[in-house]
Amino acid sequence: MEDSTLKQKLLARARRRSSPRAAEATGGERPAPSTGNPAGDYRTWTDFTAHPGYQHLALMRQGASRLGLTDPFFKVHEGTAGATSTLEGQTFINFASYNYLGYSGDPRVNQAARDAVERYGTSVSASRAVSGERPIHQALEQALADVYGAEDAVAFVSGHATNVSTLGYLLGPRDLVLHDEYIHNSSLVGTQLSGAKRMPFKHNDPQSLEALLARHRHRFERVLVIIEGLYSMDGDAPDLARFASLKKHHEAWLMVDEAHALGVLGERGRGLYEHCGTAPDDVDIWMGTLSKTLAGCGGYIAGSRPLVEMLRYFAPGFLYSVGMPAQVAAPALKALELMRAEPERVARLHAISGYFLAQAQKRGLDTGYSIGAAVVPVIVGNSPQATRLCQALFDQGINVQPIVYPAVPENSARLRFFLSCDHTQEQIDRTLDILQQQLDDANTPR
Ligand code: PMP
Repeated sequence: MEDSTLKQKLLARARRRSSPRAAEATGGERPAPSTGNPAGDYRTWTDFTAHPGYQHLALMRQGASRLGLTDPFFKVHEGTAGATSTLEGQTFINFASYNYLGYSGDPRVNQAARDAVERYGTSVSASRAVSGERPIHQALEQALADVYGAEDAVAFVSGHATNVSTLGYLLGPRDLVLHDEYIHNSSLVGTQLSGAKRMPFKHNDPQSLEALLARHRHRFERVLVIIEGLYSMDGDAPDLARFASLKKHHEAWLMVDEAHALGVLGERGRGLYEHCGTAPDDVDIWMGTLSKTLAGCGGYIAGSRPLVEMLRYFAPGFLYSVGMPAQVAAPALKALELMRAEPERVARLHAISGYFLAQAQKRGLDTGYSIGAAVVPVIVGNSPQATRLCQALFDQGINVQPIVYPAVPENSARLRFFLSCDHTQEQIDRTLDILQQQLDDANTPR
């Protein structure tokens, strides 16, 4: 057989194997192992270009090039990314970075990193359990625990790995995870790793959760409900009191991923519980990241001492991974101290986010469920349109990321605006004027 024909056949077979229906059958996860290859031809399985992931990428690129769109991903920022950022040698108004309180690039935070490097070097050179422990880790964890009035906290080197490792370790096949349908990928991957049964409930809908609990609680041992403090695609927040009361009634655990809520929600930026006026110990597992407000990289779990001790000794992504470098821990701790001392930054973030939301709505833009707290989407209806608008704004000195399928359903593709306390009203007016003009032009029949 001619080589290119053979290749096409192999690709078609690989595509059939990874069809959406196959993915559906496995709950959106990887297809079941195949039954082998009696014909003895394994080229499909050794050629990376036949991998469904590569096929998906190739299709995306073909589609974009047919529509004359440039790739909106992997843009290079040449300095600190805050309310403005330098790309291609030019200063942009920037809405694509979650530097919510402006602490990444703050001279005091930078100095904390420099001091830490001077004292500890650039690596702790071992897992924390076996000689990687430094005083700065303990100081950071104590400060994180204090945010929630929790007994203890543990910091991992990655936010994503925090969820994967914690869920993968805590739960097993006799357990059930009930999660908001918009929950972050890291919680899905962690649940998958654990072998627990997984069921989504409708976004921010306690009634939908209640129906699942009533129907399934009794069939499982541990049941964990996972929600987020502030949803990063939609900029909305759950009603914590209602979720907490359900988990109590049905004797389950409640976990809140505060990645985007810390520093953003509540008057002092303490997150969802402050925003909702509830007690922090209504939540069993507080999870958060150091990569947003805390100007670093990594994640944490805060909660009871037994929970945290278990994770410190046994969570694979902690135990079998190097300790957080001091020059990451120290600036995160500094940012946390500054956040406590400077509630005016949180107030500025609230004011400017509220301004963005109000001005966008005044112009008739679709901001979905956003409550106007640091994350505001403008929903534009399809992925090519979102990518086109991103390009048009970029051409006028504004950097914002399109969020396209499959990250969100195709008909709710959007531009997602991250606000920082350093944005100004003028920057927002200019951005929204240009966006509205672009949308009007796109909707004008030619
Ligand atoms: N949880 C949520 C809700 C997130 O948005 C993210 C990613 N930004 C993570 C966890 C993972 O965090 P990190 O990027 O710090 O690894």
